[in-house]
Amino acid sequence: MTAAPLLKAWLTKLEELGVKFHFNKHLQAFQKMNLGFDLQFSDGDTASGDALLLALGGGSYEEDFPSWVKLLQGMGIEVSDLRAANCGYELIASPDFYKVAEGKAIKGVVLTTALGAKSGELMITRYGLEGTPVYTVGVSGEAHLDLKPDIEVEKLKSRLAGGKGDTWQRVQRNAKLSPGALALAEFLAPPGAWQNDQAAAELLKHFPIQLGAARPIEEAISTAGGVVWEKLGPGLNSLEMPGLFFAGEMVDWDAPTGGFLLTACASTAAVAASGILDFLEKSR
Ligand SMILES: Cc1cc2nc3c(=O)[nH]c(=O)nc-3n(C[C@H](O)[C@H](O)[C@H](O)COP(=O)(O)OP(=O)(O)OC[C@H]3O[C@@H](n4cnc5c(N)ncnc54)[C@H](O)[C@@H]3O)c2cc1C
Repeated sequence: MTAAPLLKAWLTKLEELGVKFHFNKHLQAFQKMNLGFDLQFSDGDTASGDALLLALGGGSYEEDFPSWVKLLQGMGIEVSDLRAANCGYELIASPDFYKVAEGKAIKGVVLTTALGAKSGELMITRYGLEGTPVYTVGVSGEAHLDLKPDIEVEKLKSRLAGGKGDTWQRVQRNAKLSPGALALAEFLAPPGAWQNDQAAAELLKHFPIQLGAARPIEEAISTAGGVVWEKLGPGLNSLEMPGLFFAGEMVDWDAPTGGFLLTACASTAAVAASGILDFLEKSR
């Protein structure tokens, strides 16, 4: 099934099971009562329940900072600072570089930073780099790109040697760099980089770049930080407020994008659902 019919079928199934949906409600406050929870919404509506599962998401891609952070902190629930995760980074480079390079892809590259190495495709934007490698191992500071990860230095050197022209002309012709990689090589290579084929091959395999600041939370795909693990039980139940459960990105975990975030959200929801069943069973 594609997404829309899957969602429709899923909602129908849940309704058949007795689930009631209340759309477009903004949770403003809730109280723990002797038996369960009372909830207040911004339109004045109220609701109550034996247990409460919050799955209010992270802080990225939102116009406003999520209000649940203050709400929970005000109730004594520990929440660590939300931080941009799976986000782009500024690339320190001249305006001339950006004039030429913006919108170009650096294909089949390996990015190595202080956090590790990740292969994939990078996109050069108006401020720096976006794409899986930088989402996974991005961190401010010096980094290196292997612009030709599928070929060893010696082989690359002999490939560069073919035909006429100086080393830089042969790099442009023989190295078969993607448009973004070529722009990097043109503008960001250290002085004297293209003096001979050996130096050129080594540089293409270990190309230094300087990553600046991470892009802000509003532009990040996800946020790290949130409800802290140490205050959660095995059913993702709050140890600080029995009967309260959490799932999804609002819990303090992080994962690379590409399905892992969504999988972790669904998985934590399943764990929390089991936790609620256990809790209700025990409180009977
Ligand atoms: C542009 C973009 C691309 C992404 N691509 C991928 C990808 O390719 N693969 C991947 O795995 N993940 C991806 N993600 C991340 C993934 O979508 C999220 O991690 C996931 O949707 C989080 O699920 P969640 O249920 O925890 O929260 P959400 O899906 O954010 O749902 C939380 C809901 O709670 C609501 N809410 C918040 N506060 C309140 C309140 N006080 N009262 C009532 N409602 C409230 C919010 O409005 C929201 O509807 C992407 C995210 C973005 C922004």
